[in-house]
Amino acid sequence: MENRKVALVTGASRGIGKAIAIELARNGTNVAVNYYKDEKDAVAVVEEIKKLGADSIAVKADVSNFDECAAMLEIVKKKFGWLDILVNNAGALSDKTLKNMTKEQWDFVLKINLNGIFNVTKNSLPLIREGGRIISISSIVGLSGNFGQTNYAASKAGIIGFTKSLAKELGKHKITVNAVAPGFIDTQMTKGIPFIRRRIIMAMIPLGRTGTTDDVANLVAFLASEKASYITGEVIRVDGGFSF
Ligand code: NAD
Repeated sequence: MENRKVALVTGASRGIGKAIAIELARNGTNVAVNYYKDEKDAVAVVEEIKKLGADSIAVKADVSNFDECAAMLEIVKKKFGWLDILVNNAGALSDKTLKNMTKEQWDFVLKINLNGIFNVTKNSLPLIREGGRIISISSIVGLSGNFGQTNYAASKAGIIGFTKSLAKELGKHKITVNAVAPGFIDTQMTKGIPFIRRRIIMAMIPLGRTGTTDDVANLVAFLASEKASYITGEVIRVDGGFSF
């Protein structure tokens, strides 16, 4: 147990974060499962991880709150002593065209998706060991923009700038910093998309299907592995070729 790597995955009680937490555990990593409100789901993920033979705890924190993130990392330190892999996955959206977007909607998305990355990464840094990994979930929307998503796209593009800058700062510690840009993945986040819009999106995906949470988790697990030790400052798409 002592020699296992330790990961923290934010927003890991469901969706992509859950799949990442489980895939890392399958590879022998102990995982701290961050959640915001859904404690029951987070505890279920912890139980699933333990069944795989890895150790795990559920840690509550609103990633948009710096002090809560500091407290979360204190708990991780007490339990595991250090961190090897940080996955910034927690995210939210609140879509409207800019004309109709309120300041609250702008702030809500930026605070979670972008300030959240600062709050969690800043508090994690003292715990991340040499050779560690920081992987953040951006989006293809951060690369291409999307109608009705100025707030979300700005936050996801911000993650890319953050990633590329931090990669330059942490290279000397052999810590790699990368972003993953998923396309259309079937989760709670995309559940509300109307059927017609979904049909249009499907026509733009050359591989002919929406993505699964495992499609993203497999890429994150690769970036977290020794095999990816010479990749840093990158944004890697996992989108079935989706372009718009
Ligand atoms: P999801 O809504 O199922 O998961 C989002 C997770 O973030 C949830 O666990 C939620 O509780 C957590 N979260 C939200 N606000 C939080 C906060 N303030 N503090 C802590 N946790 C918080 O959706 P998902 O699709 O699994 O999204 C995971 C990540 O992937 C997000 O960053 C999202 O932007 C990104 N992404 C998703 C898609 C997609 O098509 N589903 C595409 C590109 C990028």
